[in-house]
Amino acid sequence: METIQVRNPRNGQFDYRFVQPEPDALRRRAGELRAAQRDWATRPVESRVAVLQRWKDQLLVHRGAIVEALAIDTGRHLLAQAEFGGTLAAIDRWCAQAPQLVREEEGRSQAQPSITFRSQLVPYPLVGVISPWNFPLTLSLIDAIPALLAGCAVLVKPSEVAPRFVEPLRASIEALPELAAVFDVVVGDGRTGSALVGLVDLVCFTGSVRTGRAVGRAAAEHFIPAFLELGGKDPVIVTETADLELATDVVLRASVLASGQACQSLERVYVQDSLYDRFVARLVEKANAVPINFPDIHAGVVGPLIFDRQADIIAGQIDDALRHGAKVLCGGRVEIHGGGGRWIRPTVVVDVNHSMQLMTDETFGPVMPVMKFRTIDEAVELANFGTYGLSAAVIAGTLEEAEAIARRIDAGAVSLNDGSLTGVMHEAEKNSFKCSGLGGSRMGAAGLMRFFRRKALIRQTGRPATIGMFDE
Ligand code: NAD
Repeated sequence: METIQVRNPRNGQFDYRFVQPEPDALRRRAGELRAAQRDWATRPVESRVAVLQRWKDQLLVHRGAIVEALAIDTGRHLLAQAEFGGTLAAIDRWCAQAPQLVREEEGRSQAQPSITFRSQLVPYPLVGVISPWNFPLTLSLIDAIPALLAGCAVLVKPSEVAPRFVEPLRASIEALPELAAVFDVVVGDGRTGSALVGLVDLVCFTGSVRTGRAVGRAAAEHFIPAFLELGGKDPVIVTETADLELATDVVLRASVLASGQACQSLERVYVQDSLYDRFVARLVEKANAVPINFPDIHAGVVGPLIFDRQADIIAGQIDDALRHGAKVLCGGRVEIHGGGGRWIRPTVVVDVNHSMQLMTDETFGPVMPVMKFRTIDEAVELANFGTYGLSAAVIAGTLEEAEAIARRIDAGAVSLNDGSLTGVMHEAEKNSFKCSGLGGSRMGAAGLMRFFRRKALIRQTGRPATIGMFDE
């Protein structure tokens, strides 16, 4: 059995380890979950709601351990608490909605009114969830909660980069045998993720485009649906009518929160020429005032980069931009603290263009490259550049002006006069555009209904047709 060492993002020490599951053990566990799902699916949805509510109580019992483990996994404390609170809210939100959503429809054939139908909702037996390291708890449970309420069994594989929270999370699940029978979380690396795709009936994957492509290919091979939520390179357009204080506040927060390690972080900033100089000066002033959360995890805003290799990617993109004529106005350097933890302060880069990696590739760091535009048509063209289409933002003098621009942007969600609002908007359905994802919306009603196959029970209430009726 292979032991995998895990790095602590605040000091670079490998101070945690886990054992990679054996393929046979994983297959056995998948079989157990699948077998228990039959009973789980036949319960009324209200009964599953009641179990998830009891799980919420257990999560609260284990709250301290989960939040502390998550804080070590991510090197940040407030957002670990926010992830925990968001998970409880997600359970409540889905528990409130599920009884209304999980309804069998009935209807009648227009062509032959004696034929009626009832559509049976048949959950996929076993759902696999594969999640990334940036919001380890949230993204491990975001699909698992609605899938469980739909009546599926769920097997989650979080990222091997941030797995400490799994032990206390599993303790909360194991406290409820009826939940543990259909729900498990297994720690492993990409090999376990790859094996998981072959063991489940539907896969929800959140992660990079590169791995998403591999998961999509494997899912096609196994003939199962894949819901792929992938990377982004979100643009923000700031028009000359925008309020300067609001615009700089939004860009700073939505680029720098979670050290930029969020799929919906703003990573390309396009500002209209007449506002550009004042915007850049104010953004740099504000960026310089944002402290890192070192040495005290409870003080400061910017946490360490969770994944060592991501720090190299960010540094590489900044170097590439500098080589091609860009200027770094603040931040821009990976700093080592705590022995081997890696931080980067809010970074503003100007004189950038679309030939630079910083404007084409996902950065996943607190970096704000700012580019000037003249007309709105030009801004829309710049925003629509590239292979990503996750989300975007527009900041203008009025919401109407912002919306007119937003309607022309190729992205699954656009925040108007704010940024990264997808993080708090769970009700609006959205699809990822271009390479940012594939499959139905994880938000809104579709987020739960995608876990069902609809079976049509078609009833003849009159006399069936006879073969004689088809005599030419
Ligand atoms: P990643 O693609 O490297 O890994 C994601 C998960 O896939 C991990 O659990 C990993 O172990 C697993 N994995 C690796 N190889 C696999 C394989 N061949 N088959 C199956 N699973 C495999 O991504 P990451 O670096 O952990 O996360 C960062 C990425 O996630 C960024 O691109 C970010 O934009 C994206 N992300 C997207 C969203 C969204 O909702 N669209 C949200 C958060 C993060």
